[in-house]
Amino acid sequence: MAVSFEILKYFQNLERGSYDKVAANIDMMLDMGYSFGIRTTFTPDSVCQMSKMVEELSTRFPRLRQVVFDTVLSNEIFKTPEMLQDYCDNFLREYMAAKEQGKRLNIKVQSVAVETLSFIRDRACKGKIALTPMGTISICARVSSPQESLYDKYIYGNVENGVLNLDEEKFRKIIDENNIYSQDFCHNCFAKWNCGGGCRLFHQSFNAEFLKVKCNFTQKALRQELFNVLQDNFLHPQKIGLQDFINNKIKANDI
Ligand code: SF4
Repeated sequence: MAVSFEILKYFQNLERGSYDKVAANIDMMLDMGYSFGIRTTFTPDSVCQMSKMVEELSTRFPRLRQVVFDTVLSNEIFKTPEMLQDYCDNFLREYMAAKEQGKRLNIKVQSVAVETLSFIRDRACKGKIALTPMGTISICARVSSPQESLYDKYIYGNVENGVLNLDEEKFRKIIDENNIYSQDFCHNCFAKWNCGGGCRLFHQSFNAEFLKVKCNFTQKALRQELFNVLQDNFLHPQKIGLQDFINNKIKANDI
């Protein structure tokens, strides 16, 4: 179970409300020994607060030892590709700093948007069985209301008289739409087996200019993860770090 929680009182009340109640329920679940995680979603306003949130977890909820940081997905928030670019740059930089902060405070900070190195997949999402308030089944937990334009496209079943009905043909059709085989632009991407072709909802909510920004983010994050692994395993007789080693080579025109 995951609790969507913005950690800092100001952002919880701004984005979701009821900070005091949610914080009290988290305390109660910790007291009862329930197994759950915290998921924090960052807007352009909160994205530079990641390290502060990790710090807050360590003081206000010292028994919580891990947190998942997620990106926001909304074409109402990102009106131009430049706005998305700023957000992605901030997210990556802040996330790397918050992860280091987490290591110092013994809190595991994770993000599936950033950390794709451990994945091997040909599609990013295998499809959910998300029960909506309408009693229908959506392929994506983020699309659940008939007021949303993608609703009809994403619904592939319902629950009626206690019976779950699934349209398997529609499920397969939806699943086959977004993956590294069906999307031409993924074919030559070095990140394709880690990314899996990206989020279906993102593809269907934004145009190609935005997609380019999102792909750059995924590729840059993967490069950073690869670099971190190399750096952790880089042994130099004079104990020079990998980044300095490369910089020295570049300076000496030796690369
Ligand atoms: S980063 Fe972009 S191009 Fe590369 S696999 Fe993912 S969606 Fe496709």
